[in-house]
Amino acid sequence: MSTYLKDGLARNFLAGSWVDGDEGRAIAVEDPGLAEHVADCAEAGETTLARAIEAARKSFDRGDLCDMQPSARGRLLLRVAQEIRGIADEGSALLCRESGKSLEAAFDEFEEAAQYFEYYGGVADKIEGKSIPLGPDYADYTVYEPFGISAQIVPWNFPVSLAARSLAPAMAAGNSTVIKSPELDPIGLAMLGLALERADVPAGTVSILNGIGAELGAKLVASSEIDQIVFTGSIPTGQAILHAAADTVTPALMELGGKSAAVVFEDANLDTLMSSLQSGIFYNAGQVCSAMARVLVHRSIYDEAVECAAALANGLSVGHGLDNPVHTPVISAQQLARIEDITSTAKQDGARIAAGGARIDCKGYFMAPTILADVDPSSRVAQEEIFGPVACMTPFDTEAEAIAMANGTEFGLVAGVFTRDLARSHRVARKLRAGQVFVNEWFAGGIATPFGGVGKSGFGREKGLEALYNYVRTKNIAISLKG
Ligand code: NAD
Repeated sequence: MSTYLKDGLARNFLAGSWVDGDEGRAIAVEDPGLAEHVADCAEAGETTLARAIEAARKSFDRGDLCDMQPSARGRLLLRVAQEIRGIADEGSALLCRESGKSLEAAFDEFEEAAQYFEYYGGVADKIEGKSIPLGPDYADYTVYEPFGISAQIVPWNFPVSLAARSLAPAMAAGNSTVIKSPELDPIGLAMLGLALERADVPAGTVSILNGIGAELGAKLVASSEIDQIVFTGSIPTGQAILHAAADTVTPALMELGGKSAAVVFEDANLDTLMSSLQSGIFYNAGQVCSAMARVLVHRSIYDEAVECAAALANGLSVGHGLDNPVHTPVISAQQLARIEDITSTAKQDGARIAAGGARIDCKGYFMAPTILADVDPSSRVAQEEIFGPVACMTPFDTEAEAIAMANGTEFGLVAGVFTRDLARSHRVARKLRAGQVFVNEWFAGGIATPFGGVGKSGFGREKGLEALYNYVRTKNIAISLKG
């Protein structure tokens, strides 16, 4: 029987076993919907980290995953997918309580995690190298090799699905992995260890440790024993990790923040736009890196669009995640204070509050669904990532002006175009500075479509076949046939 939970404490998944925190330390976890303590998890320290890294190294050197027949590795990932589905009910109830998100959204995370393992399970035996023609005297080919130990740092907004997004391709390519879970909601992700355990993933191949970012996370990425860093989180943390990576010359994949814009032309379908706005900025209370944070609308339909957006925001059901409302709390008191603080600058910078604008007076950490109209594109609310349920709307007159505005931040994660004009949708999509462009449906695409940023939104790509090549390095082998 698994010992994932001991005396109500969620433990660390260390190389195939469940262990307590160093010196019995624990991290308290809150229910953001009630602003009260809900659980504790065992906090790993330096000793546990060193054991996880050593186990990962031994597992890699033994070839537990990388020397497995690729098709067998693929089947292993498919088993993990199946086991994730097996823990989804229990896991999503825990994730819902600790993250504040709706039960449905929490369940979707486990389902998406399972799909990542299925997708990358299917490609584990298709990571094919190239043969390079050098004439009759040589045989030359490339092979894709795993890095070794992949150190992965996961944020709190989608802890389970984002962990799976990086872990599944890392495993498909044959790496060992050490994951640091987010301290605000580590328990659903710790449960992923159960799925790995039940699927008989070789011990040592994967560890999932709970710890504080600036302590355990910083130690993990600074270790000279790791071979790759995968970071998903904020720009300041990403910058700190890049400094650490520079010291050890360790390759790092950076999936950072965004301030993404939808460009809405005069021929757009407003119903389509509103349904995209609902998921784009209110899903998970706007705590989504690729949220529809800015909505740039052609002046001829701007007033109507603002009115519809305000009605949408004012009409959303609000409540505790367990009741499955559309609008749920943000993750913490600190996050709520930050969102309110940035939003409060909008008015003095000339914006109009069309809906919301402040916290909801209740027990949990609820920010009202907020629509800011007439936002100056250079103002703080238009330039900074708010990471909350706050959309900034601004009118434009010409296509060129809209493109300049959409591209006018330091970010470049995703962007959107809403129009019925096919030629314009292609033309504008090509001009938008972003890793992914959605046309007429925010979040169109899925686990098979490459995702990642330009500018300060980061570099490297996750999802799709493209992501696989972040988890391998190319070796060229040139053979002289001359004698
Ligand atoms: P964060 O940077 O505060 O934390 C992310 C993770 O880094 C956490 O696990 C944290 O414990 C850890 N961490 C903190 N300091 C560290 C350090 N010095 N060394 C190593 N690890 C450290 O970000 P967050 O608040 O958890 O997440 C929100 C941010 O993540 C937003 O900016 C959002 O846009 C971004 N994000 C990006 C993507 C993407 O795919 N591009 C996806 C989700 C979230």
